[in-house]
Order: sequence, then C-alpha cells, then structure tokens
Amino acid sequence: MTRDASLAALDGRIAAVNDVLNAASVLTWDSRTMMPAGGAETRGHQIATLTRLARDLLLAPETVQALEAAEKAVESLPEDSPERRKVAQTRHAVTHHGRVPASLIQERAALRTVAQAAWIEARAKSDFSIFAPYLEKTLGLSRAYADCIGWSEHPYDAMVSIYEPGETARSLKALFARLRAGLLPILDAARARPAPRSDFLFRDFLEEGQRAFGLSMAQKLGYDLNRGRLDTTVHPFEVSFTRNDVRITTRYNRNYLPASLFGTAHETGHGLYEQGVDPAYTRTTLATDLVGLYAVGGTSFGAHESQSRLWENHVVRSRTFWRLHFPELQSHFPQQLGDVSAEEFYRSVTRVEPGFIRVEADELTYDFHIMLRVEIETALMDGSLAVADLPAAWNAAIARDLGLTVPNDAKGVLQDVHWSTGYLGSFPTYTIGNVMAAQLMDSLRRNDPGLGEAIEAGEYAGLAEALRTKVWQHGRRFQREELLLRETGRGLDPAPYLAYLTAKYAA
Ligand code: ZN
Repeated sequence: MTRDASLAALDGRIAAVNDVLNAASVLTWDSRTMMPAGGAETRGHQIATLTRLARDLLLAPETVQALEAAEKAVESLPEDSPERRKVAQTRHAVTHHGRVPASLIQERAALRTVAQAAWIEARAKSDFSIFAPYLEKTLGLSRAYADCIGWSEHPYDAMVSIYEPGETARSLKALFARLRAGLLPILDAARARPAPRSDFLFRDFLEEGQRAFGLSMAQKLGYDLNRGRLDTTVHPFEVSFTRNDVRITTRYNRNYLPASLFGTAHETGHGLYEQGVDPAYTRTTLATDLVGLYAVGGTSFGAHESQSRLWENHVVRSRTFWRLHFPELQSHFPQQLGDVSAEEFYRSVTRVEPGFIRVEADELTYDFHIMLRVEIETALMDGSLAVADLPAAWNAAIARDLGLTVPNDAKGVLQDVHWSTGYLGSFPTYTIGNVMAAQLMDSLRRNDPGLGEAIEAGEYAGLAEALRTKVWQHGRRFQREELLLRETGRGLDPAPYLAYLTAKYAA
C-alpha cells in the first residue's frame, strides 16, 4: 500500500469511531435539553452502549492492522506533522484502552448510576454519610483504573492525564503554590474596598430579553449560528457534533441577570474553539478524544476552558465591553436598567465576594475552590485523607482560604456532581484554563498592538482570527503545552494571569 492508502485505511476506521461518538453526543445534548425526566435510565444505557461500540471499533483487529500499516507509512514524516500525530494518538489510545479490562469499565458505569442517585439524595438532605460509602467505592475503582493505565509518582497522575496530558500531582502542587501566594494579596486588596452597588442585578428580567441579548452577543464574538444554536438547560454546557454543528446552552434566572449573560459568553468561547477546527480534521483522530471516548476538537479540557474563560472574562467581563454594549442590554430592559450606568454595571459584575459555591464564584475566589478540590482529590487517591474526614478537611480549607464557615454539607463537600460520576482529575483543568487564557491574551496583545485597539472599538474579528490561527484550527494536533510554547515561547506560566487580576481587581 502507498502511504496515502495506508493513512486512508486508518482514517476510515477512526471516522466510524468518531461517527458513533458524535451520535452519543447528540443523545447527551438531548438528555440535557429536551428529554423528559423519565427517559434518564434508558438514555443512560443508550449512551453507554454507543461508547462501548466506539471502544470496540477502536480495539478491533482491523483498526489495529490499519494502525500498524500507517505507523510504517508515516515513519519518515516530521514528528509533529498531522499524519504522524494522528497515528501516534491512535496508538496511545489503543494502548490505553487495551490496559483497562471491560469488567472494570462496566463496574465503573454501574457504580456511577447508583452513586449519582445517592449523591442527589445526600445533597437534598445535606447528609454526607449517605454518599460516603459510594465515594469509598468510587475511589477503589479509580485506584484500580489508575493502576491499569499506569503511573510512577502518584496515582492521581493517571487520572489527570486523561483530561490534561502532561500535568501531574507534583506539577499542580507547584502551580497552585505560586497561584495561592499571588492571589491572596489581590483578594485582600479587593476585599478592603467598599462593595459596589449591585441591587439592580436581582430585578425581574424576562427570559426573552436575556435570550435576545445573549444571541446578539454570541454573534458579535463570532459564533456562527448557521453551524450552531442556543438552547436552555439546567447546567450550561457546549457540545459539538463535528465543527459543522456546535451547540451551546444557557440558563435563564429571571432574578439574576449575570447567570445567563456570562454563562452564554463562556459557552460561546467553547463553541468558537470547536467551530474553528480545521475542516480537514473532521471525523479524524485530530478531532476525537480517543482516550476519553468523546468527539471533541479541542486538545485538552484545560485548553478548552482557556477559550471559554478568555471570551467570558477578558472580553465580556471588561469595562470596555459594557461601555460599548450596555446601551443594547438597557434597550431590552429599559425599566430594570434605566437607572444604571455602564460603569455601575461593570463594577457590579466584577464585585468580589467570597462564597461557598464554586459555580457562583467571582474571578478572584474561583481558583481557591479548585485548589481545595484538587488537594482533597489527591489526598483521597493516595489514602492520606479518609473519606470520613472529608467534610472536616473541606470546611477547614474554606475557612483558611476564604474566611467562611461552611453551614452544611450541601453548601460544602456535596455541591459538585463530579465525584459521584467517578471523574476524579478534571477539576484542575478549570484553573489551567484561567491561567492559559491570560497567558494567550497577554501574548496576542504584545505581538499585535492593533488588537487591543480593535477590541476597544468593539471589533472582535481580529481576536477570533488570531485564536483561530494559533489555537482552534490545530484541533488536537498539538497538546496544550505545545500550543503555549508556539505562541508565547513558554509553558504554562501564571505570571500573566496574576498581572491581569492585579490590574483588574487590585489597582
Ligand atoms: Zn467551560
């Protein structure tokens, strides 16, 4: 076979894997937007079956044969060529899944269903003891999973590598130490100032106006509605079925305007990344997470989060944005916002207020919520923290970092769904996204002084084009650290993030 024929044979196999995973994603989107509650159980089976079929297709002898032929065919190509990367990533995924027995996957899936039900009950009753035995089992299976994949220094490394290749318990500890030291003085300075006026955010905002403004904003940022749509959900998310159908969702709170505004901006950022992947990568390994078995074009969870945070916080949560676009928001809500200035609005949506709930946290306190979770996950994985001691450890960390006394487990250790799903190791990617967003933005501004002026004028196409060129188009060809090195000359570096937060919140 020629090189092209060998690669085409492998592409053909992976295209089928990608199709099956995209079909599973459509079912997921439906379950979180349209599906009646009664459909949950059978839908869970449907998605699990499709995911298993995708894994079987990947591990099938035909795929492995095509992979071996392709490996020989690409030997002489540059290491970072799209062809070599496709082949190497497929090999990595085949090795990964080959190490995990089907019985363990089934055990994890079965546990997930009952653990989530227990978590829902525990949270409703604010009683950690209901969830504790399931978390204990989840940890046991997570350790078994980590041992299958393999790790050298810490079992947590194996879990993190699924979401953020390259990060480890050790690297995260170093990153967090720098962040904690840098964030605390900024937080202290912000808290020393009087709280701005924010009463108007809690007035009555009809969904219609929120949706109209959200759609207009998404389009301003470059989101293509011909290949996308905006729907309503409980927990906002973005999901794509190839770059040609990239959907975002939001949640409208009639009595709290920022929820949908910044939620929509955030998901738009995720959507722009997926819409911007090179069309040539459609249905290939470079637009498929073959390890996580998820059809996604972005290269890691952290890189994805960097794009949502960049648009949400650096563009939309800025003084410039509201100076330019607040009159449009006012036109949807003349009564509710008639007595508010653009500056007052900006100050209200950047007010700093330590709280218990991660998803409601402001920019300055958000990372403390993440660092606490990662410290706890790491200690749970290596056994240095017992499940029974988890609520006390949680509450102590919230008191230490944010100066708050957690009133009950529902507002503390039981607030997130993550641990009940068995997904340990994804929390660090939120903070990595924050750090990476600032690092990219800093570099793009330095390299193109005209970019800042365009953003000041409300023209976002230049920023979108720069990100498309530097990040989006590459899909999964480059890892996060490679993208950063190519654009900024450095690996992940918290200095620009701390400088950005200082300028915004401490100056
Ligand atoms: Zn996100």
